[in-house]
Amino acid sequence: MSQREWIEKDFYKELGVSSDASTEEIKKAYRKLARDLHPDANPGDAKAEERFKAVSEAHTVLSDPAKRAEYDETRRLFAGGGYGRGGGFTPGGGGGFTQGFDLGDIFGQQAGGADGGLGDLFGGLFNRSGTRTSRPRRGADVEAETTLGFREAARGVTVPLHLTSPSPCTTCHGSGAKPGTSPRVCPICNGSGVVSRNQGAFGFSEPCDECRGTGSIIDDPCVDCHGNGIQNRTRTINVRIPPGIADGQRIRLAGQGEAGLRGAPSGDLYVTVRVSQDKVFGRTGDDLTLALPVSYSELVLGTTVSVPTLEGRVGVKVPPGTADGRTLRVRGRGVPKRGGGAGDLLVTVKVAVPPKLDDDAVAAMRALQEAEKASGFDPRAGWAGA
Ligand SMILES: [Zn+2]
Ligand SMILES: [Zn+2]
Repeated sequence: MSQREWIEKDFYKELGVSSDASTEEIKKAYRKLARDLHPDANPGDAKAEERFKAVSEAHTVLSDPAKRAEYDETRRLFAGGGYGRGGGFTPGGGGGFTQGFDLGDIFGQQAGGADGGLGDLFGGLFNRSGTRTSRPRRGADVEAETTLGFREAARGVTVPLHLTSPSPCTTCHGSGAKPGTSPRVCPICNGSGVVSRNQGAFGFSEPCDECRGTGSIIDDPCVDCHGNGIQNRTRTINVRIPPGIADGQRIRLAGQGEAGLRGAPSGDLYVTVRVSQDKVFGRTGDDLTLALPVSYSELVLGTTVSVPTLEGRVGVKVPPGTADGRTLRVRGRGVPKRGGGAGDLLVTVKVAVPPKLDDDAVAAMRALQEAEKASGFDPRAGWAGA
């Protein structure tokens, strides 16, 4: 039975129950009406027979909780959603659906393979009615992952990605028909992929058997894909990773996912990027971090140290009297930013203590210690009173 029928028919009214009637009340109302209207009890009464069919149909839908919920939902959408009473589509106002408004137009779009909209809204009604339909459908999105070295992630890199996924058949370009031929519109369903069937009192909408719901017939199937228009292929895609990508970020490549069914658009490819650690560099956002080992005397006297950067090296000036743990900033030598420019290189100095000194060095250290005391240096001066 079509949505249109569902929308136009008031099954509750047929059974003479309220829309919030319990299953028990519905059953009771149906039994009574069925007994009264049964063709055996009303031989030759066409009106009674008509009513009997209508009542049976109403009962079939309302006695099944799942069907009833679907029916209620469908009617609610149309009654309240601007398609029905009071909506913009009802120029004449008044009750029910206006004559001039053809619901078939809406459902026609769905049959044509449009994604989203009403097609999705009512997709469930079709899928539940039997074989899955294979009308044109957008390809699925594909997830992939790649691991980059720290420096290549920071600089940006192009990596080859090998993907095995269904793709449009190269022989028939996804049509499923042998090259030189093309699919024709199914004469049974006129391309909609759906047929109405009457079985006893009930009408059903179901996928067309002739074309298996696709709406088209392929007389001469493509030999390489057996007519479904899709081949499993291993593809290599060169993915350009922009500079500065961070661990865990995802890149979307539009149209590089699975092929759509029967010429529908492909899905997207999402690549999650993993970034491995580096021996020297760390990262905070766009800033590159680096721990710089220095000697005590370098901190005290000051020096210039050559440190590695992503691009080469840079001289970092450690001013005289620099405290251990201080971070020196080198502007613009960090991770490239998306919009241009780059973060900073943050160099944190860290004293390296010599594990062993020769006699001369030890003697010099002793002399330094005495000299520091004499000049009044007390490393724990701040602790006075603690
Ligand atoms: Zn093919
Ligand atoms: Zn058909």
